[in-house]
Amino acid sequence: MRCPGQDRGFWSGRLLIECVCPRCGWIVEIFKDEASVKCPRCKIRIENPKREAECATWCANSSQCLGNVPKSDSPDPLDFGVAVGQTLRAGLRALRRATSGDFKRIARAVWAMGHARELATQEAVEVPKVLLASLALELTRGSQRQVDEQISELIKLLLDEGVNLDLAQEVDALVRECLREEIPASLAARLVHDAWRLVELGEKMLREQRSVAPEDLWVLMTDTAKRHAERLFA
Ligand SMILES: [Zn+2]
Repeated sequence: MRCPGQDRGFWSGRLLIECVCPRCGWIVEIFKDEASVKCPRCKIRIENPKREAECATWCANSSQCLGNVPKSDSPDPLDFGVAVGQTLRAGLRALRRATSGDFKRIARAVWAMGHARELATQEAVEVPKVLLASLALELTRGSQRQVDEQISELIKLLLDEGVNLDLAQEVDALVRECLREEIPASLAARLVHDAWRLVELGEKMLREQRSVAPEDLWVLMTDTAKRHAERLFA
């Protein structure tokens, strides 16, 4: 018999959540009670970032019906909705305005943010700053307009969307550090750099239908990103 707490009919609100496949960037839908889902595009198994099993906290039979439920305080690199919350949504709104709602570009920025979050969490670097800078770097790709101007415009949009001034200034400085020719001095900037190299690596692995090779990792600056790539593109 199925525990009523796990019966979807007992739930209210959204049953399906969306997450971004870390390997290929595809937007994957998953039921909130499912432990994991297979990416329809690249076939990697993605852990549910927001598995909800509230009943497990009080139901005596939860171990029979759910098995091991992940602890809610474990970091979930794919969930953009809760931990960084408001700030991130403001960033996405700003990017949507800056790109005139270009879905492909927004999706790629979200993919980069997923990598950035994974790396920043592992390195214990301040997450919102690294995520917003990763998002901003999308504006430096494939455009005729002056990068400087575009970044300034995005920072204004961030403020407009309610991101606080200190954070916006930190993001501005971090993005500009990433754009300089030399190797970035700060760990945060190296992580933002690597988040984008991981996106490009994902696109390359998908295009060439192969696993990562040692020479692919040379573009990455941090060991954390190298380990992440080896896991992801094995
Ligand atoms: Zn995938």
